[in-house]
Amino acid sequence: MSSFTVRARDGAARRGTLRLAHGVVETPIFMPVGTAATVKGLTPAEVEALGAQIILSNTYHLWMRPGREPIEACGGLHRFMHWERPILTDSGGFQVFSLQGRRKLDDDGVLFQSHIDGSRHRFTPEGIVNFQEALGVDIAMALDVCVKLPAKRHDLERSVELTAAWARRCKEAWTRREATALFGIVQGGLDRDLRARSAEALVALDLPGYAIGGLSVGETRPEMFALARYTASLLPEGRPRYLMGVGTVVDIILAIEAGIDMFDCVYPTRCGRNARAITRSGELNLRMARYKLDTAPIDAHCTCYVCRNFTRAYLAHLFRAGEMLGAILLSYHNLAVLLELTAQARAAIERGAWAAWRDEALHTFGDEQAAATVAAPGIAERCAEHARP
Ligand SMILES: [Zn+2]
Repeated sequence: MSSFTVRARDGAARRGTLRLAHGVVETPIFMPVGTAATVKGLTPAEVEALGAQIILSNTYHLWMRPGREPIEACGGLHRFMHWERPILTDSGGFQVFSLQGRRKLDDDGVLFQSHIDGSRHRFTPEGIVNFQEALGVDIAMALDVCVKLPAKRHDLERSVELTAAWARRCKEAWTRREATALFGIVQGGLDRDLRARSAEALVALDLPGYAIGGLSVGETRPEMFALARYTASLLPEGRPRYLMGVGTVVDIILAIEAGIDMFDCVYPTRCGRNARAITRSGELNLRMARYKLDTAPIDAHCTCYVCRNFTRAYLAHLFRAGEMLGAILLSYHNLAVLLELTAQARAAIERGAWAAWRDEALHTFGDEQAAATVAAPGIAERCAEHARP
C-alpha cells in the first residue's frame, strides 16, 4: 500500500516522501519519461545513476506495442525493461483523445484506431486498470477524458462528468492495491467551477494520489499556473499531486510554487535528441557554428558525467556528424539538470529558503518574465481571468 507524508512546507511548496511498492520517492520530483518502456537513448543504469527515483511510461503506447503478453511473459514491466525503482504509467487517455477523427467516445469507453497500423482498439476504465496492474506498475492512472483547449463549456462539462464516472469504475476494478496505487486525474480546462466539480468528485473517492490533467495543452503560462495553483488548493494535503506533461526548468519551479509534488515531460530527452542543451545560462543549440571551437563544457556549473568529460565542440561535432552519441550525452546532461534542480528545490523547502532559491533559480536559468510572474502572483490570476471565454 502506498503512503505519502508531507515533511516540510514553505508557502505552498511542499517537501514530501512517497512510499511505493518498488521504493521511496522524495518529492518534489521530476519523472523522466520512458514512453515505450525506455528512456530514449539511456540505459536504465544511467537513468539510475542520474538519481531518477521514478520513471513514467505510457499505457497507450505499451498497449499498441508490444501489447501485454510479452511484458507479462517477462514478469512485468520492471523486469521487461530492467528498471527496479518505481514506475508510473499514464492511462493513455491523453494519447487517445489526441487521435482526432480516429476515435469515438461513448459513456462506456472510447473506440479508436492505432496510430501505428490502423487496427481497432477499445479502452474502458476497467480494461486500463487491469492492463496497468498486469504490468505491475507502482502508480496507475485512471482513464480520463481530455479536451483540447479552447473548448466549449458543454464539452468540458461532459469531460468532467465522464472522468469522474470512469474514475469510480477504475476504483471498483482496482484489485492489486498492495502493489499499485491508483491516481485520479482532475479535468475542467480553464474553468474554475468545473475544476472544483472535478476535484470534488475525485477526492470523494479517496484515492492514493491526484493528477492535474488537461493543462500544458496550448494555454498561456500564467493561465496554466493560475489553474494549477487553484486546483492544487482543492486537493487533500495528505495526497501527492502530479501536474501532467510539465517539465521545462521554469515550469517545474512554478509548479512547485503552486504546491505540486510530481512532474513529467519528454522535454529534456527530446531536446537532447535535437542538439538543444538546458543550461544555467539558458537553452543552447549546439548545432550553431559558434560552438564548433567552444572548449567549455555544456554547462560550467553542471557536475554531470558529460560536463566533467566533454566539450561543446565535441558535442557540436557529434550532432553535425549524425553520431548517436551526441543525443545520448545531451539527453543525459539535460536529465541531470532537471533532477539536480528538483533535488535543490527539496533542500530549499527543507531549510525554509524556498522563495530565495526560487527567485535565484529563475534568474540563473534566464527567465525574467517568469520571475516577474512569481514575484507578483496576482498577475497570473488576472491573466487567467481575462482569458476565460
Ligand atoms: Zn551536465
